[in-house]
Amino acid sequence: MPEPWQVVIGMEVHVQPRTRSKMFCGCAVSQLGAPPNSSVCEICLGMPGVLPVINRAAVEACLKTALALNCEIPRHTKFDRKNYMYPDLPKGYQISQYDLPLSVSGYLDLAGRRIRIRRVHLEEDTGKLVHAGDKLHRARESYVDLNRAGVPLMEIVTEPDLGSADEARLYAEELQTLLRGIGVSDADMEKGQLRAEPNISVRRAGADELGVKTELKNINSFKALHRAILHEVERQIAVLESGGMVVQETRGWSDAEQRTFSQRGKEFAEDYRYFPEPDLPPIELDLVWVEELRRSLPELPAARRARLQEQYALAAADAVPLSEDRALGDLFEAAAAAGAQPKPTANWIIGEVAPSGKLPSAPHLAELVQLVGDGRITRDQGREVLRESVESGESPSAIVARRGFAQVSSESELASIVDAVLAANPKAVEDYRAGKKQAIQALMADLRKRAPQANPKVASDLLLKRLR
Ligand SMILES: [Zn+2]
Repeated sequence: MPEPWQVVIGMEVHVQPRTRSKMFCGCAVSQLGAPPNSSVCEICLGMPGVLPVINRAAVEACLKTALALNCEIPRHTKFDRKNYMYPDLPKGYQISQYDLPLSVSGYLDLAGRRIRIRRVHLEEDTGKLVHAGDKLHRARESYVDLNRAGVPLMEIVTEPDLGSADEARLYAEELQTLLRGIGVSDADMEKGQLRAEPNISVRRAGADELGVKTELKNINSFKALHRAILHEVERQIAVLESGGMVVQETRGWSDAEQRTFSQRGKEFAEDYRYFPEPDLPPIELDLVWVEELRRSLPELPAARRARLQEQYALAAADAVPLSEDRALGDLFEAAAAAGAQPKPTANWIIGEVAPSGKLPSAPHLAELVQLVGDGRITRDQGREVLRESVESGESPSAIVARRGFAQVSSESELASIVDAVLAANPKAVEDYRAGKKQAIQALMADLRKRAPQANPKVASDLLLKRLR
């Protein structure tokens, strides 16, 4: 039986670009946990008579994002005031973009599906309310922290092209990868640097008209995004199937209760009384600059992922992290170019280098992968050599020689060398198992070559044990 309901999702994502200062003033973009109201000035506090100045780095980040999302960049753009009253917005308006955004009409390809991007524009963030309270005495107190007020935000809006919770999550993940890959944002959801607001509606399969949509807020992880959409779709279907109507509104998501709840009726654009920001001149974009930015974009993560799989025969699980982090991907390719085997190199980078956050030089990594691959040192020793090489800059082989790491006598340390010997000599292994006991000589010889200072008694015992 065909699915009777079709799910239609559009997504607004707010992303904080990586800039030192705020959108229209010189205040530093403060880190989470900074003392409240420690990074504010008369401009971001919205005092009368002050003049905002556009942050070029934020415009650049927004243009790069738009270009990476295949958007068109109109020549003329401007900022507008979006007027509304809320305690976290002391000015009574937010500077945003209304009818002439920085970019329009792009797309992001998702596993065979093209998701159209309506626009990517630039605006400023609001402050934050910190709710305190004492449930026992029913006291409710709210404090206002304006460190975030005026922080740059890019708003990335799709057309309603997403068809499921899975697809919406994939879109948000792919977008995060893209933003990190082009270096414009850390896009950390938990830190509020990437905030996804899906709008969701359902309609009878085959219906022409879109259903009434609701918009979800307060989502701070990919998992919550997925769950919130599933729950909201279920809720809407239940409302419609029981003969009710879905109300257009903004709904919050409670992770604790695993449900969406009504927050406020939907505002319409006219409620905001948009008008051009009188304190900022309209921008005429320098097309030469835009072209320079386009050329400066690195290979995009999706393209690199496909190329790494193709060129180095990597599995998707290895190609994904190497394409998401440009520095790791570059290290991988440089080490491979220096002669390292791709698969173990990927393992070392993903398993050891990435968690440590410290990058070795590509030739040193290649050397290390070789040393471990040849069974000359164990994987555990390899880890130590890697750490030391990163700290001191000394080459892995020099560290191995100096520290006498090739002396291997414990069984656990010899295990990987024995495995390498067995893997490298399938013929001798087969002969030995077929009864030609003298084949052990060839295996021991190879073992001594790989680990000259291995304890021969321990090594041969281990070898015999593995051959049994
Ligand atoms: Zn300021």
